[in-house]
Amino acid sequence: MGICLILFVLGLFIGSFLNVCIYRIPEGKSVVWPPSHCPKCGSPIKPYDNIPVISYLILKGKCRSCGERISWQYPVVELLTGLLTAATVCRFGLSFSSFYYLLLIYYLIVVSFIDLKTMEVPVRLSYGTLLSGLFLSFFVPEHSFKEAVFGASFGAGVILFIIESYYVFTGKEGMGYGDANIMAVVGAFLGWKKVLLNLFAASFVGAVVGIGLILLKNKSKENPLPFGPFLSAGALIALFFGDVLINWYLGGMGV
Ligand SMILES: [Zn+2]
Repeated sequence: MGICLILFVLGLFIGSFLNVCIYRIPEGKSVVWPPSHCPKCGSPIKPYDNIPVISYLILKGKCRSCGERISWQYPVVELLTGLLTAATVCRFGLSFSSFYYLLLIYYLIVVSFIDLKTMEVPVRLSYGTLLSGLFLSFFVPEHSFKEAVFGASFGAGVILFIIESYYVFTGKEGMGYGDANIMAVVGAFLGWKKVLLNLFAASFVGAVVGIGLILLKNKSKENPLPFGPFLSAGALIALFFGDVLINWYLGGMGV
């Protein structure tokens, strides 16, 4: 229990760094320099104003110098990263596997929020994470390099097939190549079976959110939803519940 709390707090601080990545990667800026500053007035953020979640609450979501609103994204990303860091280590233990899965999770968080804001998936980040997933698979006991290579190819291939089928039959572009990048990364870390499960789970989450937005009359055709956050939600379901769901499914078929 104590260890989960420590990991949660550690995750909050990692989330704080992920926020910097989400903010700076689309602008092509360095994620390590300069230190955090207010985007409006440029005044540097003092260490005591940079405590994850707590500072946001104390400052009531405003810059201490100029009063500019701080996006809700900051505390949400910090909390999400804290919770997922604790959940991953509690599920997979203090092991190299946990470290491996956390790399994937941090990638998914950064990519989802960038996709939400810009409708783009950063290519260099995806490429770097893909190579890490392939290389580090040598050190993960439940996953082999062969599975990682096949999973990545399968993940990218399925999305390319969906993109091209959709184009052939409708003449329109649905998913983008960025989505193929995301699924290549997921496939490298989780293998092909969980890619399939990920896609089913993502369609389900996407349908639920889509219907919800239509009911709230919040959805317009000019603002299509990015797929990145749904693929990421599907990947988390596949990571945490994949083995249970796959065994249950195979058991149900009497295999
Ligand atoms: Zn300011």
